[in-house]
Amino acid sequence: MSSCYIPKTLGELGEALKHLTSSSLILAGGTDLVLHMRQRHLEPDLLLSLTDVPALREIQVTPEQVSIGAMATMSEIVTSLDGIEDLQALADAAAGVGSPQIRNKGTIGGNAANASAAADLPPVLWLLGAEAEIMGPGGTCRTISIRDLPDGNQGNTLAENEVILRFLIDRRALKGWRSVFVKLGHRSEVTISRIGLAMALKQDADGTVLDARVVVGAIKPVPFPLPAAEELLRGKKPDPSSDLAIQLGETFKGNTRRVYKENAAKGVFQDALLRFQ
Ligand SMILES: Cc1cc2nc3c(=O)[nH]c(=O)nc-3n(C[C@H](O)[C@H](O)[C@H](O)COP(=O)(O)OP(=O)(O)OC[C@H]3O[C@@H](n4cnc5c(N)ncnc54)[C@H](O)[C@@H]3O)c2cc1C
Repeated sequence: MSSCYIPKTLGELGEALKHLTSSSLILAGGTDLVLHMRQRHLEPDLLLSLTDVPALREIQVTPEQVSIGAMATMSEIVTSLDGIEDLQALADAAAGVGSPQIRNKGTIGGNAANASAAADLPPVLWLLGAEAEIMGPGGTCRTISIRDLPDGNQGNTLAENEVILRFLIDRRALKGWRSVFVKLGHRSEVTISRIGLAMALKQDADGTVLDARVVVGAIKPVPFPLPAAEELLRGKKPDPSSDLAIQLGETFKGNTRRVYKENAAKGVFQDALLRFQ
């Protein structure tokens, strides 16, 4: 490696981005990248570390909006968002990532940029209608929908000299909604998702579902909404002991070739419904 840039401000970051090439690498928490570098013996011409720009770590929550810096770790997301009903799914997803060590280092930016099909935060960011603010060379910024970040082939649509600065969620559109994330893995802890279910419900005072959103991860290369499940939920009480979970599970049919995931979907929905009691 010929050089390593460690900018301290957003201004310095913009300048550093001018020097990135297709052989350069961007380092966040390193939980994915360092393994990848070791396994493939990668020798970047330049390593850009995002670790020392304080602005990239900030999490700001107002009644109108939440802004989460790309370098916010999973642990910081849990601390800041756990208990906030409309944003609970983000805290759930971050709390279920890897081990405490991974959660203390792994960032939301790395999770989304890595674009793994099994990543836990992207389905939630889709569910909540997040946007990603992106910086390019010289500090020019643009904003895209989170849906436009993955390229559908386990990569992302960022140019080689662009970084994600932060994620923005419009909370005005989430007023009255509660959200949860439930994951199915092969183990109960430190497990990669086989199904990641992000669900948000708007209920009346009686608990009847007025509106529903469901986004599924870890099944296809990118998260996808499940309109049939949303339709089933509307007008119902989210009772996990009723037939509703079975019917919801059946909406997975045709979305996966893995029969066990079709069967397991019922239990995952049941766990999600329990959270809305
Ligand atoms: C043991 C173990 C368990 C894990 N368990 C889970 C799990 O349960 N759920 C899960 O979702 N993931 C899991 N992961 C994967 C990983 O920890 C997460 O994806 C983590 O969030 C990655 O963030 P990072 O900061 O470490 O990214 P890094 O490893 O630093 O970077 C990952 C990739 O994203 C790029 N990147 C990072 N930040 C930016 C940015 N701001 N702008 C542009 N590109 C960027 C990097 O260049 C690199 O290509 C696990 C990993 C390990 C090793």
